[in-house]
Amino acid sequence: MPTTGYDENNIFAKILRGEIPCYKVYEDDATLAFMDLMPQSDGHVLVLPKSPSRNLLDADPRVLAPLIARVQMIARAVKEAMAAEGITIVQYNGDAAGQTVFHLHFHIIPRWSNVAVRAHGRGQEKAEVLEGFRQKIADAIKPG
Ligand code: 5GP
Repeated sequence: MPTTGYDENNIFAKILRGEIPCYKVYEDDATLAFMDLMPQSDGHVLVLPKSPSRNLLDADPRVLAPLIARVQMIARAVKEAMAAEGITIVQYNGDAAGQTVFHLHFHIIPRWSNVAVRAHGRGQEKAEVLEGFRQKIADAIKPG
């Protein structure tokens, strides 16, 4: 697997190993999804493959097809649970592109036409708010 430079101690690797808690919305043998602690909008979810890669560019292509199907499934649940009008999906590759955690992940960001997105990776949300959204989104997920 082309995982050159992958840091086993990045924060998402620690979450995947259960060393750090998360507000989990979905898990299967290949995927984990949880609430972003510093959401850019209400209901902002991150979707990760369990297998290690720094980002999309060094990921094993065989990981990507099932992963994007999970992103779609979870994005549908986020849209329904949050009554979002739209969904922005973002994925950063490298420092210069704005990536801050070097384990591949997709951002699922609910959108409403009159609500601007908040800054990337700033301002931690309250635990009870994250837990409320987590519960609603987890309940809306329909594994296919
Ligand atoms: P990136 O910049 O790498 O695309 O996104 C990393 C995201 O992870 C940011 O949106 C940031 O808010 C979020 N984040 C950073 N540390 C943690 C953490 O410990 N737990 C969770 N759930 N999200 C985190």
